[in-house]
Amino acid sequence: MKQQLLDTVSVNFDPRVELIGAADYFYAQGWMLGTAGNLSAKMPDGSFWITASGKSKGKLSQEDFVRVYPDGSTEAPVDAKVKPSAETSIHSSIYELFADAQACYHVHSVDANLVSNFIKGDEIPLPPLEMIKGLGIWEENPNCVMPLFDNHLKVPQIASDIKTRFLAQKPQIPALLIRNHGVTVWANSLETARNYIEITEFVFRYMVAARKAGI
Ligand SMILES: [Zn+2]
Repeated sequence: MKQQLLDTVSVNFDPRVELIGAADYFYAQGWMLGTAGNLSAKMPDGSFWITASGKSKGKLSQEDFVRVYPDGSTEAPVDAKVKPSAETSIHSSIYELFADAQACYHVHSVDANLVSNFIKGDEIPLPPLEMIKGLGIWEENPNCVMPLFDNHLKVPQIASDIKTRFLAQKPQIPALLIRNHGVTVWANSLETARNYIEITEFVFRYMVAARKAGI
């Protein structure tokens, strides 16, 4: 009986309401302006719902999502012209790499773009802030780095870079930064993915302020 109930819950699970709420909030923070950014959530069958391309993230409806299946096929709720986010390949790579990931969120913020230019290398040392604990690093004065990737016009190239690098070495934290572009996080729940975006944006904001203050 209990299993039946669980099965019904998982069949009826629809993350779009939660994704719309997160997009509203990120948009209000200025992190998803001009249709930028994309949010996705995995379904029990391995497919995922992702925000459609070219939609304002401040006024999404359930029709502004596309369901992407593991074989790459897609399905929109009503309008066949609704296309999945141009950055869908990054989400696919994240779900392939991290079996536990249930949600993948990607936003574009001014602070993330500034921080991505602080160094020339392929990873950014993060300051040892208390907030880093929220990303799963429980150490005194942690030596934590965030992987940094070059931006490419062809998004599948970014996705391929992510896959190659993370297959060779898993990152310390569930987050990556694309230079002059924005941050991507993944988590085992939608709520946690939202927290991770808040934490990474807090850290970026701190880093920009600290540089300005000469710290
Ligand atoms: Zn983007």
